[in-house]
Amino acid sequence: MLELSQRYCPNEKCRLYKVTGADNRINIRKRYGSDKRHILLYCRECGASFSDTTGTMLFRSHLKVEDIQKIIKLSTERASVRSISKELGISKDSICKMISKISLYCANLLSEMLQGLGLNESQLDELMLFLKKNDAMSRLRKRRNLKEEKKLGS
Ligand SMILES: [Zn+2]
Repeated sequence: MLELSQRYCPNEKCRLYKVTGADNRINIRKRYGSDKRHILLYCRECGASFSDTTGTMLFRSHLKVEDIQKIIKLSTERASVRSISKELGISKDSICKMISKISLYCANLLSEMLQGLGLNESQLDELMLFLKKNDAMSRLRKRRNLKEEKKLGS
């Protein structure tokens, strides 16, 4: 379900650029595409028209949302592009393009979130070190748990 209050005008020159919520002045213009699954939105402030997927990893992608979710899941499980391609029946090029889009989307999201925190560069470095240390500790804990499970199982 499309939540209009979550959308924003992608026109950088618009007064309501990236404004979400009740004040965003975004409306639906029409549905389009062969199966009418795409929605054309427009900004009532500047008149710009844009797809409901503008600014998301779904923009200009022909992959199904379910397949994108599977690509994300499999790539976080460190599956190879070749094995993801084989499992989903999607070309390796499409998998690579989508992983690249997902990476860029996540990097932009993280960057916006970090800017929202108002941290300087050294504080960001400390945060990244803390996160890396926590990640290493959780991997170590998982390995220990697996070893203990194997001991209990045998
Ligand atoms: Zn606008």
